[in-house]
Amino acid sequence: MAVELRNDFLYNILRMKIKDILAADKPSVSFEIFPPRKDASFAPVRDAIARLAVQKPSFMSVTYGASGNAQANTVAIASLVQSCGVSALAHLTCVAATRESIASEAEALGRAGIENVLCLRGDMPKDRQPAGPGDFSHAVDLVRALRPLGFCLGGACYPECHPECPHIESDIRHLREKVDAGLDFLTTQMFFDNNIFYRYLSKLRDRGVTVPIVAGIMPVANGKQIERICRLSGTYLPSRFKAIVDRFGDRPDAMLDAGVAYATEQIVDLFANGINAVHVYTMNKPDVAERIMRNLKGILHSPVA
Ligand code: FAD
Repeated sequence: MAVELRNDFLYNILRMKIKDILAADKPSVSFEIFPPRKDASFAPVRDAIARLAVQKPSFMSVTYGASGNAQANTVAIASLVQSCGVSALAHLTCVAATRESIASEAEALGRAGIENVLCLRGDMPKDRQPAGPGDFSHAVDLVRALRPLGFCLGGACYPECHPECPHIESDIRHLREKVDAGLDFLTTQMFFDNNIFYRYLSKLRDRGVTVPIVAGIMPVANGKQIERICRLSGTYLPSRFKAIVDRFGDRPDAMLDAGVAYATEQIVDLFANGINAVHVYTMNKPDVAERIMRNLKGILHSPVA
C-alpha cells in the first residue's frame, strides 16, 4: 500500500537516478557520509562534502540516524551534496516509522530534489513491540510504500548473511522479495574477502536477483574498532587483514596507510573481475577518499584501449 502524498511535491525532482549511473558500462566509485547530530554544527560535514565532491564520485549516500537524533539532518545533508553537483542517495529507515512519518520524509526528499532513496529497515530496538497494522516490519514494506512515488530505490544486502537470519538461503529469499517489490539496485554490507562477494553474487544471479549490485568497501582506519564491529556482525576477517591490525592497530598513521592499501587492493580486484560499482564507506573522512581515488586514477580516468 502506497503512502498518501500531495500531488505537487514531485515537481522538483532532478534527473540523476543511480540506476542510470550504474547502467553506464564503466567503473563507478561512490562515497558515504553521515549527517551531524541534531544539535551539532554542520560546518565539518559541509567541508567534508566539498572535499569529497572534488573527487567526482558517481554519487554520495547519506545515512539515516537510527535513534531519531541525526535523522532530521539527512535531507539537508543530501541537499548539500547535490548543491556540490553530486547525486545524492538518501538512506531512510522504517523500523520505528508510521505511514504518516514516511509520507512526510518522502515529501521532504521530493521537495529537496532528492530522487534516490536507500530503503532500509534499520536496526530493531531491543524493546521493540511486534509491528501493528500500518507499521513497517521489514524494508520490503518501505519499498512497497515508496515505489509508486517515482524515486529510484536501492536496498541493502549481506554477502555473509544478515545477522538475524539463520540461513543465507532464507536471507536471499527475503532479498528477492524486496527486489521484486521494486528495487533498482542493491548495496552490500562491507566485506574484506572478495571471494565471499563473488560467491554471493553468483548465488544471487542463480536465484533470479538481477539488479545491479554495488560492492561496499570499508577502508579501515581504526583496526581495533573494526575487529569489534566484525565480531558482532559476523563479518569474516581474513588472516592477512588480522595481521595488519595486529601489527599496525595501535599506530593510527600506519593503520591508515595499511587500511587504504587493503581497500585499494580489494577495489582493483573487483574492477579487474568486471564489478563496475564500488561504494566506499568513507565515514566523513575526505583524506581517505582522496588517497583511494589517487590510487585509482589511471583505472578510472584513462581511456579504454
Ligand atoms: P530487511 O531487508 O528488512 O532485512 C532484515 C532481516 O529481516 C533480515 O534478516 C531478513 O532476512 C529478514 N526479513 C526480510 N524480509 C522478511 C520477511 N518477509 N519475513 C521474515 N524475515 C524477513 N542502518 C541505519 O540505521 N541507518 C542507515 O543509514 C543504514 N545504512 C545502511 C546501508 C547499507 C548498505 C547496509 C548494508 C546497512 C545499513 N544500515 C543502516 C543497517 C541496516 O538498517 C541493518 O542491517 C538492519 O538490521 C537491516 O536492514 P535491512 O534494510 O537490510 O532489513
